[in-house]
Amino acid sequence: MASAAYTPGNPSGLVADLNEAQRAAVTAPPGPLRVVAGAGTGKTRVLTRRVAWLVHQGAAPWSVLAITFTNKAARVLKERLGALPGGESVYAGTFHGFGAWLLRRHGDTIGIDTRFTILDRDDQHRLLKLILDELAPGEGRLRVPAVAAQLSWLKNGSSGRAPLALDRSGMEDVFEAIATRYAERLRAASLLDFDDLLLESVRVLVEGAGVGDVLRDRFRHVLVDEYQDTNRVQRDLLLQLVPPGGSLTVVGDPDQSIYRWRGATIGNILAFEEDLGGGNTVVLERNYRSTGRILSCAEAVIAKNTERHAKRLVTSKDEGTPVEVHRAGDADEEGRLVAARIRRWVEAGRRPDDIAVIYRVNAASRAIELALRERSLPYRVVAGTEFFQRREVKDLLAYARLVENPADDVSFLRIANVPRRGVGDTSLAKIRQRAFDQGVPIAEAAREAATAGVSGKALKGLRELSQLLDRARAQPRRPVAAILALLAEGSGYKAMLETSHDELERSRVENVDELVAFARQLDEREPDVELSTFLERAALVSEQDDVEEDGGRVQLMSAHAAKGLEFPCVVVAGAEDGWFPHVRSVDEPGGIEEERRLFYVAMTRAEDELVLTFSSSRATYRGFERRLPSPFLGDLPPADIEVHDRAPSWGGAWSPGPRPAFSTPVAPPPVSGVEGEVVREVGSAWTVGDRVQHPYFGEGVLFDVGGRGEDTRVTVDFVGHGRRQLLLRHARLERIR
Ligand code: ATP
Ligand code: MG
Repeated sequence: MASAAYTPGNPSGLVADLNEAQRAAVTAPPGPLRVVAGAGTGKTRVLTRRVAWLVHQGAAPWSVLAITFTNKAARVLKERLGALPGGESVYAGTFHGFGAWLLRRHGDTIGIDTRFTILDRDDQHRLLKLILDELAPGEGRLRVPAVAAQLSWLKNGSSGRAPLALDRSGMEDVFEAIATRYAERLRAASLLDFDDLLLESVRVLVEGAGVGDVLRDRFRHVLVDEYQDTNRVQRDLLLQLVPPGGSLTVVGDPDQSIYRWRGATIGNILAFEEDLGGGNTVVLERNYRSTGRILSCAEAVIAKNTERHAKRLVTSKDEGTPVEVHRAGDADEEGRLVAARIRRWVEAGRRPDDIAVIYRVNAASRAIELALRERSLPYRVVAGTEFFQRREVKDLLAYARLVENPADDVSFLRIANVPRRGVGDTSLAKIRQRAFDQGVPIAEAAREAATAGVSGKALKGLRELSQLLDRARAQPRRPVAAILALLAEGSGYKAMLETSHDELERSRVENVDELVAFARQLDEREPDVELSTFLERAALVSEQDDVEEDGGRVQLMSAHAAKGLEFPCVVVAGAEDGWFPHVRSVDEPGGIEEERRLFYVAMTRAEDELVLTFSSSRATYRGFERRLPSPFLGDLPPADIEVHDRAPSWGGAWSPGPRPAFSTPVAPPPVSGVEGEVVREVGSAWTVGDRVQHPYFGEGVLFDVGGRGEDTRVTVDFVGHGRRQLLLRHARLERIR
């Protein structure tokens, strides 16, 4: 992506390097505008240019609101606008970031404490656990993640299937009590969860006295990237901000909708004209990112989805080299072959940060990381949210949140005895009781622990904790890095890690230091930044945002985190049935189609070279398992790929084509000495690839055979009925030729 800033003296420069359709979109008169186009056609480029164009045409920069998919994308956008007068006042950020911004300014109009803290998913689960223990002890059926999902489903207007079946009498009441208490706790502690950031934003626009008008008056132009992944509430938020016929630009690709499980719906992009009372649609067909062969492979895969409108996509690059498909015998071999392939790229002159390894399941990265380390290839795992979910990072953030918000009970309970300061369950129960009786936050009750009947070591520990928090509060609220360092050291937290006998524990110090370094970066970038802003940034980090962004390293990331990005060389690893598509998706209606879109997203990140790898076996928690290639690989056009098979003894050479991918009978794998290995045998009568007939399901192709004797199970892909596993002895299958 060209990173030049747009300059005011040269307006034609804003559109000179765009094709006709892109230019039409960038320069369209303000009004509802939808850009629907495939991967790599310049949607994001059009969106950022349109922001610059609008400003250049005289729109006040602060009247432009650009919603990007990540915080990083927002930063890049603002950097580019830097050269336009006032460019830095364009609001660019994510939906959640915008929600937080809005509520800090106007939340008070609907009774929200504007000093709220954001409750992330992990803390939300901790809070729900506390509430479940209080209200439904012994109710094993109510698991925290399911309860969280149900709450979210209710809050978001309960459409579709409920995550939790409250089918037993009394259950609904229990659940309602949980929901009520959860809401009370959040309110008492001035906490907002992720759903609230969006829902309350809508409410403030609708109910907050005058707020809707003020903001509609301010944000005259709203632009949204990756619109296919917005949900209903996000749509409502936009429709509150933009009147019918108003200047709303959305760009998206229904084939890249990958967040359905979080409530995203392509219905938004489809209903756009209806929602906005008309509008223009621009279609982009020229792909500037990928070679012809990469595109042809990606298109062959996505073309198999039935719930889609076919799009035309032509590349502006040449055919390029064939897409490589590699099969390894096991995970370690896959790791080694990925590392070797990367080394060849580097030797051929690619920079490590030109290269990305993308996987569906995080577990796929382990063996690859190991192999990269062995070959001294620098890499980093794009962790984004994961970094902020690490225990030590969360602990330190909990301290910081308590400094900011003494009413944050979840944070207090998290660190009350971390590091150990003699505050056991009994003491905690006493101060919780007192807090409850007095209607004060737990941290407040802890100050007067003696009155609550706490004594001895626990009393001393709680005093020291309160004093530390007071000291931190007494500090000027910046620089933030200094406050964090005070908390990490003053609490004894860092010393606890450093003196641990466990190497893993000691290594956690690095993450504590990294968090302080992250704060320092922010202090330097925005000299007036306050602790509250830092906490908000930490809570709203998205999957792609990373604490450090130094170049020069191969990037490893999940397919979800790869959305919107591009790299000259891409490896999609672990392309196996069960991982890609993910085994959990198989039973979900529409699940496979979503997985196919995700695979399409992964493949279309590649500019020049694409390598797909899979392994024939893997050690899983069930033992050593035989693995089959992803059915998506079967859709690749043979003319555009090059197969490298390291494990032909695993049932014949792999080749694409209609499933199953194995062309010869499967022999028991010649791996010896591996304990717990699950060996799948094929009886002489049945061969993977056979065409079969079933009295009910009709015609199909034998995909896999497992178990032995009486327990032999067959997996068959039935035309029109999908994949079924059947017990052979009952299946009444007939072979057809
Ligand atoms: P995705 O669907 O993956 O988000 P996208 O449609 O947003 O992709 P961009 O990332 O905007 O596509 O563009 C893909 C690549 O093509 C970028 O490197 C971009 O700079 C380049 N590009 C877009 N339009 C043009 C053009 N007219 N001339 C040259 N390069 C272009
Ligand atoms: Mg994009």
